[in-house]
Amino acid sequence: MSYILKKYSVYFLFVFILLCISCQEKKAVSRTEFVIGTICSIKIPESESSDRILNECFSELKNLELILSANDENSELSKVNNYACDRPIKVSSELYELIKLSKKIAVQTNEAFNPAIGQLVKLWNIGFDNAKVPEKNEIKNALTFTSVDNIELKGESEVFLKNRNTKIDLGAIAKGYLADKLVRLLKDKNVKSAIIDLGGNVFVLGKKFFTSNNWKVGLRDPKADSNDVFLSLELSNTSVVTSGIYERFFIKDGIRYHHVLDSKTGYPVKNNLVSVSVICESSTYADALATAFLVMGYEKSLNFLKNFSDQKLDVVFIFDDGTYKTTNEALILH
Ligand code: FAD
Ligand code: MG
Repeated sequence: MSYILKKYSVYFLFVFILLCISCQEKKAVSRTEFVIGTICSIKIPESESSDRILNECFSELKNLELILSANDENSELSKVNNYACDRPIKVSSELYELIKLSKKIAVQTNEAFNPAIGQLVKLWNIGFDNAKVPEKNEIKNALTFTSVDNIELKGESEVFLKNRNTKIDLGAIAKGYLADKLVRLLKDKNVKSAIIDLGGNVFVLGKKFFTSNNWKVGLRDPKADSNDVFLSLELSNTSVVTSGIYERFFIKDGIRYHHVLDSKTGYPVKNNLVSVSVICESSTYADALATAFLVMGYEKSLNFLKNFSDQKLDVVFIFDDGTYKTTNEALILH
């Protein structure tokens, strides 16, 4: 009798341990912090090293913020903006790499995405307390410094600004670049599935936690006062980046001024789009192109896509009448 009891208690102990292990495996941990001027959260499966991995992710974000921020006077980018007109400045490989790619995308998009737009962005300062509608002559003046040709790359590591008033702003591409950096870090640590959300700039790695299903990613209803989901996408191993006219804006004399600027006119872009979401494995491209497509409008974006082969991507365009169009209906959950 006592032998049978012993035998069964060992058996139950074994099952209990197995259950505990599988329970442990089925948990995911997330961390949320305010970095790069927005709420960033990362969720990965729980493991012995998950805390350490999340620490490394947020350290990486903070280190890159010190390099890429146009809002921090002490960032490496601010040093370039302040001094690279006097002489070429040697920069980190990250800054060099991102400026190089930004210049390339600016040329491809005919400056709809324009990293040389910094002076104009600061003039409006949308998203900050002292945002204002600039005088017409101030805008006209700022537009004379926004040609991307004013940004020159020298050798393998130097940046030179040909005009003292040309300022680089990487705000429309840097969040995507940061997401890609985090994906690389997580893959290096053998993390197979994760959700990275950098203020709406989302990357879904692998399959949904502990399943073989794709992730379901909701696109927010672009109405300014709504937190509802407009539509949901089914995705895996890709980024979804949305650029919209409803998030950073201010209202003056009843007119809404949002933060995506047309560097041809100097004003917030105005067409029938309210948001553009780009789905692409490269979050860097998704970020830059979501902004570019919002500036270009629907027709020009489709023409652009006909000749674009750098990346495989899909797009969801949401219009001001509440309708949408997409390049791939199969991604949308009905
Ligand atoms: P996107 O469409 O991706 O980008 C719009 C932003 O890009 C604009 O805000 C402007 O900066 C710039 N831009 C506008 N028009 C164009 C154009 N035609 N071509 C290219 N660029 C354009 N926000 C804060 O409030 N405080 C901070 O301290 C702060 N620090 C940041 C640090 C880093 C490293 C990064 C990446 C962002 C930071 N931000 C901060 C947020 C930043 O200012 C932008 O608002 C944000 O990146 C916009 O992203 P988005 O996805 O909303 O829009
Ligand atoms: Mg962008």
